[in-house]
Amino acid sequence: MDDKRKLQMFYSNVPQPIRSDGMGATDLGPRDVMRDCENKNMFVPPVTDAGLVPNMRYSFSDTHMQLNHGGWSREITVRELPIATTLAGVNMRLTPGGVRELHWHQQSEWAYMLYGRARITSVDQKGRNYIADVGQGDLWFFPAGLPHSIQGLDEGCEFLLVFDDGNFSDLNTLSITDWFAHTPKDVLSANFGVPEDTFDCIPPDQVYIFQDDVPGSIESQEVESPYGIIPFPFKYELLAQEPLRTPGGSVRIVDSKNFPVSKTIAAALVEVKPGAMRELHWHPNQDEWQYYLAGEGRMTVFAGNGAARTFDFRAGDVGYVPFAFGHYIQNTGTQTLWFLEMFKSDRFEDISLNQWMALTPRDLVRDNLHVGPELLDALRKQKWPVVKYPSSDES
Ligand code: MN
Ligand code: MN
Repeated sequence: MDDKRKLQMFYSNVPQPIRSDGMGATDLGPRDVMRDCENKNMFVPPVTDAGLVPNMRYSFSDTHMQLNHGGWSREITVRELPIATTLAGVNMRLTPGGVRELHWHQQSEWAYMLYGRARITSVDQKGRNYIADVGQGDLWFFPAGLPHSIQGLDEGCEFLLVFDDGNFSDLNTLSITDWFAHTPKDVLSANFGVPEDTFDCIPPDQVYIFQDDVPGSIESQEVESPYGIIPFPFKYELLAQEPLRTPGGSVRIVDSKNFPVSKTIAAALVEVKPGAMRELHWHPNQDEWQYYLAGEGRMTVFAGNGAARTFDFRAGDVGYVPFAFGHYIQNTGTQTLWFLEMFKSDRFEDISLNQWMALTPRDLVRDNLHVGPELLDALRKQKWPVVKYPSSDES
């Protein structure tokens, strides 16, 4: 093959920043072709993208991995994604028996189990305890300030943690080893009424995650509190919830209405089938933090004043949408797209563009948008916009 032919092959097989309207030119490099292929809509933005819109996507693949015996963690906080001020996320893996040590923090912790099973423990301010096993598709919520732990069971586990503060770091919590290591030994001795040498072997620093044996059954680990168990569950079986099904997918909503302890984080688990999309909408209460579980999609965020920007997403990515900014999420792949949308709120709320228009006088919509009767008729007939959520106030 001659050099000219090789060059032609190269240009025909890699994407180039040239749009169908002829705008753009070839990228001569240096370049990362794999990332360009993953980011089709950022590499060649739709002609409707314009203005200054900050970054609203970050991949867990681009984060620092904290490796320990017993598991690992990585996080996307305001340090990775500066616009994400309301929530921060941690992706964590625990081996069979691996423990996220006894700790607490100033933020509330919401979690979604991605794979496997874990045992969670907590004690509240009234001396009541909570010990439960969680499996795939289950949530848990630890209110701010309450101590807790997580331990992987037989098959280990991986989960997503979401905290109600973008400045959170899971590497900067209050942990039991750290407190012991930084308390004078005579104080520990006086506090527990045991000799100082009891503490000769305590860890010198925060342990964070450690490898332990797989615990026995939950019955074998029962601890009876004289004050009883916490009367409202800290866990919720999200996949057991019957979803709202629409032709384009499904949605499960969980907030303080059906999961009362979750007073500061509301969420929706969304399924969008190939070819479908989560309709044009916005949220009238809070910013949205997204986690992509499977598939591929794109989202355009409309920021007003002529500004809009399109981002591509795939499993392991985090997306963000500021309060009230318009957006949609379209499945751009061949498999089903699954993602979580989360809000620092006690309730899930959204406003559907379709519903708004359908419930506004017809003449006004027509004259405002210069649209014909086809759209107005379609709006009236539309029973289920592609993925429409009911207001959680209706439930
Ligand atoms: Mn925690
Ligand atoms: Mn949304």
